[in-house]
Amino acid sequence: MTSKTNGIFKLQLVFLLTASLFWSCQPAEEEPAKGSSEHITKVTGAIDDGTLINAENDSKNWLTYGLNYSENRFSALNQINADNVGELGLKWSYDLGSKRGVEATPIVVDGIMYVTGPWSIVHALDVRTGEKIWVFDPEVPRETGRKACCDVVNRGVALYKGKVFVASLDGRLIALNAANGEKVWEKVTLDQSKNYTITGAPRVFKGNVIIGNGGAEYGVRGYITAYDAETGEQKWRWFSVPGNPEQPYERPELEMAAKTWDPAGKYWEVGGGGTMWDAMVYDPELDLMYVGTGNGSPWNRRLRSPGGGDNLFLSSIVALDPDDGSYKWHYQEVPGDHWDYTATQPLILADLEIEGTTRKVIMHAPKSGYFYVIDRTNGEFISAQNFVEVNWATGYDENGKPMEIPEALYKSGAYEAIPGPYGAHNWHPMSYNPNTGLVYLPAQGVPIVIEDDKNWVHNSTETGGPHSGIGWNLGVLASAVPPKSAPFGHLLAWDPVKQEPAWKVELVGPWNGGTLTTAGNLVFQGTADGRFVAYNAANGEKRWEVNTGTGVVAGAATYEVDGVQYVTIAAGWGGVYGLAAHHSATESPGKVYTFAIGGTEAMPEYAEVPQKPLVQGVAYDPAHIGLGAKLFISNCIFCHGVPAVANGGNIPNLGYSSKEVIENIEDYVLTDALKELGMPNFTGILTEDDMTKIKAFIQSTADAVYQQMQQASSGD
Ligand code: CA
Repeated sequence: MTSKTNGIFKLQLVFLLTASLFWSCQPAEEEPAKGSSEHITKVTGAIDDGTLINAENDSKNWLTYGLNYSENRFSALNQINADNVGELGLKWSYDLGSKRGVEATPIVVDGIMYVTGPWSIVHALDVRTGEKIWVFDPEVPRETGRKACCDVVNRGVALYKGKVFVASLDGRLIALNAANGEKVWEKVTLDQSKNYTITGAPRVFKGNVIIGNGGAEYGVRGYITAYDAETGEQKWRWFSVPGNPEQPYERPELEMAAKTWDPAGKYWEVGGGGTMWDAMVYDPELDLMYVGTGNGSPWNRRLRSPGGGDNLFLSSIVALDPDDGSYKWHYQEVPGDHWDYTATQPLILADLEIEGTTRKVIMHAPKSGYFYVIDRTNGEFISAQNFVEVNWATGYDENGKPMEIPEALYKSGAYEAIPGPYGAHNWHPMSYNPNTGLVYLPAQGVPIVIEDDKNWVHNSTETGGPHSGIGWNLGVLASAVPPKSAPFGHLLAWDPVKQEPAWKVELVGPWNGGTLTTAGNLVFQGTADGRFVAYNAANGEKRWEVNTGTGVVAGAATYEVDGVQYVTIAAGWGGVYGLAAHHSATESPGKVYTFAIGGTEAMPEYAEVPQKPLVQGVAYDPAHIGLGAKLFISNCIFCHGVPAVANGGNIPNLGYSSKEVIENIEDYVLTDALKELGMPNFTGILTEDDMTKIKAFIQSTADAVYQQMQQASSGD
């Protein structure tokens, strides 16, 4: 340092000292009280593009669905760690007042939490007290429940510049004032006369709120739309599958995509599918966003596109420009999807050391049962390895194409495709810990045998196919041939570089919660049998658990408030598998649980729910059983399950109803009596005469189960 610059430096120092003295004499500007409207306006108003990009380096808040734009759900917080997690205790719990599935990850900024429950209801909570600040109910018409294949769930909100964004089940995107929950703007994002629904959390990339939709089981065309966060003005829309080739293509890549479909299938009339109902991530450095697309509609490729073809962009990862939605590249995981193998499952961005080179990758473990590693700069295939047993492909070739097993196409008869349509991994968030180098995901198997629906009629649900009474249009039947494989669920720690498992923990059954991992060498996961568990991230050793009283399907969040690290899980059994099956012996309402080291509140206790007796004594004509079974499978089984065989999920199993309920079942099915619970009115779909037949099927099934039990107990 020269003497001249030294002099300037001294002058600057004197100035700074004087200035700091001056400022320290001024009365401090009063900080608004934490949790007050002024405080919320200030802390949520400060969330802008810079804050969201910087979320990668700042784990104090949980600012977006997957924690940060990489959606790795890896928190750098380590106050709670593998050594002291045993001292974790409850700080508070909050009752969501719901009985259906809870899939939301809470968003938290400086102790202000936003979490959603069933029917897209938003709850703003104060982490410091556990008290409600406000609740917003978008008043989703309950008849929308009929269009929701996978429960009336919602996975959460987005937060940006003082607004909370929620997408409602019936297809509206709503901006709320973060401080008071008042509606700022609302846009209908889809044709509400069609069978679209929204369950996903919106994302905000560069001032645009982006949202997709679901409905590929029913026959819709998938798209995502970007809206200006400030005004709600539509900025762009991107369709994942081509529309009617007689009309102009909305984008040039759709003309390219149309060449991979056979127009003889009139796919545009049956929807085509490709619905993007969950994963979206953003790389600010490459300025690319990535979205995972859904399955084909109908499921059966021979009906959708009789001449074959890849059917772009089904079951793909697609890179788009976040400013205008223009197409950059795609990688199709399952060309010509034939098994409901969506690629909508969570995407994680990471930089991995692969064969001596740092690669910018996307990691993906979707329904197909393969773990994919893709170069996110250009979509180049790096590797794919099955993370569960699969029997639809023997593997992937070096070009990233699956080598299909011909029998898996169920052309010559029923086939137990593994994974089944529930997927080897569904929407439940996975997490990636750069310290262990492992990805943590809930892997599963839900066995189902499928076959061609030989009676399928183009663009019609009146074929008696599975669930056609609720509008499903699959071209596929669930076969009466019993599956050979057994259902399972486990927490899988997967090495994405070696493409092999590091460890796994067997769980009671499928459909366990998403995961969270931390720099405290921990993995948190809720389970189907109603526990919230912390494991050592390096080796899977269980370190802590509590009983939540209901199956947990959502992913947990962690964050810091006033120097204290908290962990929150939103519990509430449900989702597509949870409608008709359960693994928890107790049954609590949807609840938000928040924990910290030294928390002393007692976990609520829930009594075991006694098994209800089988329905007995409903008179019926045995000649009605066959048609009753057909009607039941088409209209009822997807939510209520097989009468008396399964125990039921968060929708009652009718084999355990009372005689009075079954005898008067038309009073519930052909009226609005249970509308508020989401039970559709089947007037116009089912007749009183149909109900007589359905009663025969329910009672005869319960009788058969009763006789089996009698024989078993008498030792026959
Ligand atoms: Ca699907």
